[in-house]
Amino acid sequence: MNDTKKPYKRNLKGQVFGMLTVIMDTKKVKNKGEQIWLCKCGCTHLIEVPTNALIGGKRISCGCEHKRTGKDKQNKRFKFSDEYLEWRDIVHRYRLKDEPIPGIYKTFIKYLEHIKGEK
Ligand SMILES: [Zn+2]
Repeated sequence: MNDTKKPYKRNLKGQVFGMLTVIMDTKKVKNKGEQIWLCKCGCTHLIEVPTNALIGGKRISCGCEHKRTGKDKQNKRFKFSDEYLEWRDIVHRYRLKDEPIPGIYKTFIKYLEHIKGEK
């Protein structure tokens, strides 16, 4: 694996790793400059995964696989990103009020693109 040494910018968008499909670059980076990707799991959960975990095969699902096989007890539970929790909260409030959800909140991706675009 000689291509894992260089932290050059990759584009993993659209690639599939196990149950995860890479949706977009979160524009976040880990300490060493490793990119973090927003991935969608086969079970519809969205998670953020750093490049090396994806290409190294460390992350192939959001953790739901372990639950199904009953090995989940020892595993740390997946933590949602702040943005995702924010979005879930907003959508939840609209649903409580029985109001239509505005376009930018319709999907998490749209919301994410919206807040990324603002900064
Ligand atoms: Zn999953």
